[in-house]
Amino acid sequence: MKIDVVHRVLKLNDEFAASVRKRLLDHEITALNLISAPGSGKTALLEETIGRWENRGQLAVIEGDPDTTLDAERIQRAGAAVTQINTEGGCHLEANLVQRALDNFDLDAIELLFIENVGNLLCPAGFDLGERFRVAMVSVTEGADKPAKYPKLFRSCDLMILNKSDLLPHVDFDLPYFEHTVKCLNPGVPLLTVSCKTGEGLDSWMEWLRTAVASTAKASQ
Ligand code: MG
Ligand code: ZN
Repeated sequence: MKIDVVHRVLKLNDEFAASVRKRLLDHEITALNLISAPGSGKTALLEETIGRWENRGQLAVIEGDPDTTLDAERIQRAGAAVTQINTEGGCHLEANLVQRALDNFDLDAIELLFIENVGNLLCPAGFDLGERFRVAMVSVTEGADKPAKYPKLFRSCDLMILNKSDLLPHVDFDLPYFEHTVKCLNPGVPLLTVSCKTGEGLDSWMEWLRTAVASTAKASQ
């Protein structure tokens, strides 16, 4: 019986995700599902991204957190449209929540939508949110073994970001092992090493985003 229940939840989620995906494509919006552990720097990366994007009016962010609007306030200060989803203890976002959050935005104005998932490397990997790209992030303070321990996420991501590279000299982070594991789990996935403190790698990230946006425009034709 239990297995049936789980299947039904995921099937329902997939239906919502398909509807989100279609709605986004109809509006030529590129959506990214940003997944990492708490504190690895998702919101900081978004703040840097908003500051660098040519037209902030084209950016929107859905913030997923168990509680508070702290991250949404940071995004608002940075200048992008934002909606906060409080999961009230829930440890991941689901597509029906994203579907409802979309009603808060002017979809005709938006080009790029970031969905900052609840900080968690485990179950967000099991829920399609209707995103076009899934981005997994690890910071160097978390240790190089994270991809090996949470393979589902790292197998399913379209881009891998290693954040807080400025701290590499201060922590025991086995970079070759990390790179090797990522390569084994997800051959060919791009790996960007970035630092929101020093700005390292952010140009490559912006370039990746522009290419992603261009690919959506092509797909929606
Ligand atoms: Mg955050
Ligand atoms: Zn969860």
